[in-house]
Amino acid sequence: MSLESLYQQIILDHNKRKVGFGLGDGGTPSHQYNPTCGDELNLTVRLDPTGDIITGFEWEGSGCSISQASASLLSQEAAGMTVSEFTEFADGFREAMRSRGAIALSEEEYGDLAALSGVSKFVARVKCAMLAWVAAEDSLARAQDSLD
Ligand code: ZN
Repeated sequence: MSLESLYQQIILDHNKRKVGFGLGDGGTPSHQYNPTCGDELNLTVRLDPTGDIITGFEWEGSGCSISQASASLLSQEAAGMTVSEFTEFADGFREAMRSRGAIALSEEEYGDLAALSGVSKFVARVKCAMLAWVAAEDSLARAQDSLD
């Protein structure tokens, strides 16, 4: 199996089993909409009582396979990170997505999210891949505000 078809399979799998899908009560859900594609997402981060560790992500939404897979993969790979680890992780993901194919996400650092590396070659799809991350950053900022 070529790397490209392996990555394609990961994206298809995450469209089926959707890690983190289902929004519980409370939290600080962020609603994001991508008008160029029609993707829509509500996502909340869940923090431990100290507010330093992301215990998980919950989300609901609809849209293209890239937007759905990105939300699912984010939920799979970033749960359990500290807030500062996640901030760095999200910065690196954004940098790769904006690189127009120049930066690939390493599997060592990004796990199955590396399957989204190819998206950066298609400028119109970058917003699809970023939607869940924008929602996560927004939700996280409001979760931290509510702790003060
Ligand atoms: Zn899309």
